[in-house]
Amino acid sequence: MSNMPRIIEQSVRAYVGGENLQRGWLYINNNAVSERYRRDRTLKARCKEVQGEGEDKFCLVTFDAKGITNSYCTAGETGSDEGHCEHIAALLLAWMEQPETFTEQEPLQETLGYYEKSDLIGFLRQLVLFQPALEVQLDALLAATGPSAVQKKRVTVNRELYQRQVAHLFDRDVHAWGAYYEIAKEALLIKEVGDDFFEQDDCANAAAIYTIIATTIIDNYYQSLDATDKLSGVIRACAEDLIKCLAEVRDDKEVRAEILKALLAIYELFLSFGWGDVLVEDISKGVLRLATTEEKQVVAKWIREQEVGQEDDEEDDEGYEDEEDEDYENVDDFLFDLEADQLDDETYLRHYRELKRTDMVVDRLLKRGHVDEALKEVASTIQYEQDLIEVADVFILHKYDAEAERLVREHFKGLKGDRTLEWLKDYYDEHNDMQSALQMAGELLSKQKTFENYEEARRFAEPLGRWDTLKRDLLETLNKDKVRNAKLLIQVALDDERIDDALDLLNLVRSSKSSNDYLYGIGLDLELQVAEAAEGPRPRAAIEIYVPRAEAWIDLRGRDNYAAAARLLTRVRGLYDKTGERNVWMEYIAALKEKNRRLPALQDELRKAKL
Ligand SMILES: [Zn+2]
Repeated sequence: MSNMPRIIEQSVRAYVGGENLQRGWLYINNNAVSERYRRDRTLKARCKEVQGEGEDKFCLVTFDAKGITNSYCTAGETGSDEGHCEHIAALLLAWMEQPETFTEQEPLQETLGYYEKSDLIGFLRQLVLFQPALEVQLDALLAATGPSAVQKKRVTVNRELYQRQVAHLFDRDVHAWGAYYEIAKEALLIKEVGDDFFEQDDCANAAAIYTIIATTIIDNYYQSLDATDKLSGVIRACAEDLIKCLAEVRDDKEVRAEILKALLAIYELFLSFGWGDVLVEDISKGVLRLATTEEKQVVAKWIREQEVGQEDDEEDDEGYEDEEDEDYENVDDFLFDLEADQLDDETYLRHYRELKRTDMVVDRLLKRGHVDEALKEVASTIQYEQDLIEVADVFILHKYDAEAERLVREHFKGLKGDRTLEWLKDYYDEHNDMQSALQMAGELLSKQKTFENYEEARRFAEPLGRWDTLKRDLLETLNKDKVRNAKLLIQVALDDERIDDALDLLNLVRSSKSSNDYLYGIGLDLELQVAEAAEGPRPRAAIEIYVPRAEAWIDLRGRDNYAAAARLLTRVRGLYDKTGERNVWMEYIAALKEKNRRLPALQDELRKAKL
């Protein structure tokens, strides 16, 4: 410890100010400073709030031989308190009083040296996701050094590491308010590392991460019953991507087994909810379509092993017998389908024709190379768009691409629903037929005027040099009914950075409908997006959007809404600073506080935001 400079109370006072120093002592006297660590010349600790409630804060102070060089606190105070707050005071005082209570950590470079390159890449990726500003610094580092001439090596993610990371998300008070929301949010950040792998066509690593996230959450699921359903949303996202991975990972048997196991665990979890979730169907269909005959047998075996356990449960809660029965039917069908490969053609075809399961019939016919018979089967049985799309995918799976395209294009005599258009657009995109893809995207856009469809149309039209004409025609059509098409018009204006147009449209809609209709039609997010875009060029217009929105949040009551209002008001204050109308702001906020003086939670949130 000889390389740490000595700290005395005066230097703490000089760094944080007298008031924060006094509050810092409160933390010490209440034993609220824990997890004390020192690594070289960096001190770290966790501070539990002593006055009122609030999350624990994590603080860090770095030194050189002479004194403090930098400090950071997760409370995110602004202004002169930033990095000079009561929590930093508490940390410094803890070190001053009891340096022996700080656990020494080995140097960072040594700790990092234990990890594989792929793990470190994952860590960096997550850091950037947590702190987007870091990407700027990372870019600067990368640009300065250039890549070293090491050959690219395929890496495999360290499963145990991710498993521990996800499990660690549950090392908190899961009953605390908002805990599931936080866990879900952080799990989705980890999932993004998997999405990166997926985008680089590294589906094995992607699948490993999705599997770990889903199964680890499931392992912790029952002990932390998720009333808000946030966690099941994460599992659902993993399941959907795992099905995609199953289609892509062809050779790696181990990874495929891992994917199937995870999918089955998810299948059983969602089945146990008993509300006939579409995901249950998606998983069973995905497995049937994408697993080999041997794999299906393995899955069937797993299900049988599980079912023994289920039967025990059933005796306990008789009240749910009906639902259970339905589940059993569902599972029985799935089991039958999984083992249907073993049936002879006649039995198989009779069974699935009776059930009107054309996708299964077509699958067997194509397996035997009977294309014409399969096409006839489709022509005589398919009545719904959804079924047609499913059958077309079976044709694709057996590499009858052209037949699939013709089926989807012609089966309903040229009538194309949204799903048909979607399917054809993706088909042409994958087969590099940009003209036809653009045509489908254009038809979709004229049916459904969403920004998503707009972007898709642009994606195909731009390389063909046809975007300018298309966009002009589209805007002409949309402008014929500005109010009805306001949402897309505003999105396009924002995209073009035509802020004044976006503001005009917003006002137009606002004045033409009751405020409720207005919100449903445009959406809160879009309104705030316009305000954000207007902050620079039109600060007053931004204020005029933020203020009523903040007041509406306050009227809704509740701490979350107050915090949301405080966030907007912080922006408003900044904007008034910019317009040089600090006095207008002071009057406004004073009046607001006075008007709401009976709402202590609001006052508290405003105080926390230093408003
Ligand atoms: Zn702090």
